[in-house]
Parts: sequence; C-alpha cells; structure tokens
Amino acid sequence: MHRVKLFIPGPTEVREEILEALHRPMIGHRSPEFSDLMDRVLHKLRRALRTDFRIQIHTSSGSGLMEAAIRNFVEKDVLVTVIGAFGERWARIAESNGKNTDVLAVEWGEAITPEQLQDAVKKKHYEAVCITHNETSTGVMNPLKELADAVKDVSPDTLILVDAVSSMFGAPLYFGDWQLDFVLTGSQKALALPPGLAIGVISENAFEKALTVKNRGYYFDLVEMQKYVDERRQTPTTPGISLFYALDAQLDRILEEGMEARWERHRQMAEVAREWARKYFDLFADPDHLSWTVTTVANTRGISVAELNAELHKRGFTISDGYGKLKGKTFRIGHMGDLTPAEVQELLLNIESILGLE
Ligand SMILES: *Cc1c(COP(=O)(O)O)cnc(C)c1O
Repeated sequence: MHRVKLFIPGPTEVREEILEALHRPMIGHRSPEFSDLMDRVLHKLRRALRTDFRIQIHTSSGSGLMEAAIRNFVEKDVLVTVIGAFGERWARIAESNGKNTDVLAVEWGEAITPEQLQDAVKKKHYEAVCITHNETSTGVMNPLKELADAVKDVSPDTLILVDAVSSMFGAPLYFGDWQLDFVLTGSQKALALPPGLAIGVISENAFEKALTVKNRGYYFDLVEMQKYVDERRQTPTTPGISLFYALDAQLDRILEEGMEARWERHRQMAEVAREWARKYFDLFADPDHLSWTVTTVANTRGISVAELNAELHKRGFTISDGYGKLKGKTFRIGHMGDLTPAEVQELLLNIESILGLE
C-alpha cells in the first residue's frame, strides 16, 4: 500500500507501535483483565491531564460527547457560541434534542470576545454555554479561559461545556483553573490514535447538575457510565477494547514526552506553518487567535488545492482543502498528534517545489 502521511486535521498519523497494540487478543469486557486495563488507562489519563475531575472514556466519535453534553447538562436553555462549522454542529445538536438554543455567532476566521459573551449571558440566564476551544474549520483558537471567566463573573452556575476535540493533548488546557465544567475530545486528533474513542472530563458541579436532568438518554447517560466506572471499572455497553489497548500504549508515550513538551512541540509546528503561510500566501484566521494544531492558509494565489493534493499524494503527503464554504478559498495544514516541526518543514518544502514557489 502507498503510504501517505496525514497533515490533515484528523484523523492524524498513528505510530506503528500504537497500531500494533490494536492486535492484542480480545478479552471480555466484564473480565478482571478489562477492569485492570480501564483502571490503568484512567490513572494515566489523570496524570497526563492533571485534573481531579471525573474522566470518562466512551466508544464513539467526538460528536457523540457533544450530544452527551447537551443531554446531560441542559434541561432547557443553552447558549451555543459559533465561530465555524463545529460550533454550527453543536447548535444543531442542541436544537435537534429539543433544547431552547440561542446562538452567538461571529464571522468565520474570528474568535468570540469575552465582552460579546458576557453581554449575552447578562441578557438571559443559561444553564450552559457551549464553546469550541479550537475551531478546526477556520483554524481559530478561542481565548477559552477569558471566555469562561466572562461567563462565571456574571453567572457562576452556568456550566461551561467545551469542545476540545482538536486541542486537548495539543494545546494548553486547564480544567479546574479555567473554571470549565465539561471538556470533550476524540481519539483521532491531537491524541494521535485511530478514531473511535471519546474522552470527557466532568467537573463536580456539572456532575451534580446531570443528576437532576431528565431524559439523559441511554447510550450517553454520563451518570450511568460513572456508576459503572466507579463500581466496577467497566462500561455499561461493550467498549472498543482494541482502542483501549492503543490508548494505554499511547498514554505511556505521552507521559514520557511530558504534556508541556507536547504542547510546546505543537506550538513550534504551528509557528513553522504560520511563517510559511505568511511568506507565500496569507493566514485566514485572526492573527491574535491562531490555532496550535491546524493552520488555515488563505489561498491568495488562487492555486488548485485538488491538484496540489494530487501531486502531494504521489510524494506521500496529504493536506486538507478548506472546510465547507471555505473550500478552494483556503487550505488547511494539520499539525497535531505525534508529528514534528521537521516533518511539517518537509511537507512545506514539497509544496514549494510542486508550486514552484520562490
Ligand atoms: C473533528 C472535530 C469534531 C468532530 O469529531 P468527530 O470525532 O468527527 O465526531 C468536533 N469538533 C471539532 C473542533 C473537531 O475538530
């Protein structure tokens, strides 16, 4: 098989040794072996994420926990902030679950400002505010701590629900210190695992709220999940056991690298990509709120992204076109997971050579 290295914002490259972990023999999900595995993985996650909040591992993509957030932490009124396609998705999820959904949206390419958000929560009381930490469609990283502060200053009981699918493990994230209440991610982004697992980090306040919410649903009932985890180190339904093996192995690597070093590596990759984009094209996103994990390049030269990608494929690389309405107008370079600045540099040199840039 022709091997193509992924510089797309998910799924990301998975190391060979991690892929090998997927091949281990199957075990029963009600066996002591599985409980040991769950215990080990939770312990390592707690060390890596440095939080005493509850941590849950679900077998689903990231969107599953976006829906879980709405079902478990919102009875009626929710405010969804939208800075791109994944914020729009969260608003649709809230509406389709029958919640009174207000939307605070800004132009694609911009971040929400703390002032805008504070104005919105002053006008009406919300049980929760949904925030995309890193909007993968635009390459914008919201000022999450400032946004959470702006909400809590006015309305301390409003829960802060965070989509950190493309930032957790790739950019600084402090759960309690930043007053966050539910933070979710998926395995196929900065965690550099195959798709299929989602991780949720839950504050005490959020968990207490969930206990009172009706119709939490079945598959994503976070209270039920917690009961299984606390009492037996199991999950209510059959988990993706192979992916737990991979997570176990990957967390060893992450703990070995150190979380700060992992964040710093992502910052350096972003710096390389931004510098290159400024030199040959332009940056699409607000320069004050650039993502650490994906760089959205404004296609100022009007190149064919499809043709560029076809040539890159032959050389063993792939990048992403712009998302949705940004297709053709931008292209995206994903630099997350286990990639290195040198690998990003290598990709960019290949783009230069294909496009004949000087
Ligand atoms: C990828 C992504 C999602 C969706 O995750 P799935 O695992 O595809 O459901 C949600 N939010 C953000 C910010 C993402 O980057």
